[in-house]
Amino acid sequence: MTRVIEPQPKILEIALYQGGQSKIAGMDNTIKLSSNENPFGTPDSAKTAFSKASHQLHRYPNTDHSALRQAIGDVHGLNPQQIICGVGSDEIITFLCQAYAGVGDEVIHTEHGFAMYRISTLAAGATPICVPERERVVDVDAILSACTDKTKLVFVANPANPTGTMIGQREVSRLADGLPPQAILVLDGAYAEYVEAFDGGAALIETRDNVVMTRTFSKMYGLGGTRIGWGYGPQEIIDTLNRVRGPFNLSEPQLAAAEAAVKDRDWVEKCREDNTRLRAWLAEALMEHGVPSDTSCANFILARFIDDAEAESCDEFLKSNGILVRRVAGYGLPNCLRITVGDEASCRRVAHVIGQFLEQSR
Ligand SMILES: *Cc1c(COP(=O)(O)O)cnc(C)c1O
Repeated sequence: MTRVIEPQPKILEIALYQGGQSKIAGMDNTIKLSSNENPFGTPDSAKTAFSKASHQLHRYPNTDHSALRQAIGDVHGLNPQQIICGVGSDEIITFLCQAYAGVGDEVIHTEHGFAMYRISTLAAGATPICVPERERVVDVDAILSACTDKTKLVFVANPANPTGTMIGQREVSRLADGLPPQAILVLDGAYAEYVEAFDGGAALIETRDNVVMTRTFSKMYGLGGTRIGWGYGPQEIIDTLNRVRGPFNLSEPQLAAAEAAVKDRDWVEKCREDNTRLRAWLAEALMEHGVPSDTSCANFILARFIDDAEAESCDEFLKSNGILVRRVAGYGLPNCLRITVGDEASCRRVAHVIGQFLEQSR
């Protein structure tokens, strides 16, 4: 018998996600600035809640996440019924693609957009459509003109990764209002906490039935290792996503840690302030070395080098000095390096080493 075992069409078009490097062979004290993690780690409140939950590991977890949804709702002023929790915001992205996009449908992401949009689109059998940005900023008109009667989802991260740029609420509204009737706008707010007084787009959802927001505990809340995120949207869409969500997708320690973290408002304040200050310092220090970056609204900056070769050798030089940053050639930015804003010592160190590199190379 000749077997004809084949995966679903499009699955083999998926290029494996490349995470930020975390180790350099033969080096112990590396500075990791490659994955936009919180340099201050996880809040103690969340660690305590996580360990406490470990006493009940033999029990199945709660399936409706009501306590966490209530806590998120209280903190952000949102209706808990319209919140869904997932294994990172990545899982919410997966649910959206699975529930709304299939073979023959189109899903829009932008030129330098986050890799998971394309991956989840292909996994659902749908067709990813890549729309150009304007100077590393999401271009609403370009997105609107790329829409067709097959467009089901439009993914925009605001602030965006890896560019760090943002578009204003007026532009976001114009995008939502200009979409064809069958399309959903997904606002990925992974970095929303870093923007003071920004709701990630939540207010838009109150008055529209075609916008969903995703959020994560992986960045500001320092819980990337435990994988938890959430989505907020119109009731009908959230109810639909809950049908494809596995009943036990989150464990009790995950739920407990996230609930404690979201209630820890002092943590958010402190981390945002430190990030804003150190981000400005880092951008300025690199500028003084002749390395510009766009004004970033997130917890990283995108440093632009003269060309691809310079970015690559600078990355190698940083590695040989025990510093890991992120090459973003796969995001159409081969002359750039994405550098997470670390603590003060790491910021000073990365700026110093880049300065050394340029002194000997330019
Ligand atoms: C880091 C990041 C996420 C978060 O993913 P999780 O699955 O929640 O860890 C989502 N979107 C963007 C643009 C990101 O950079």
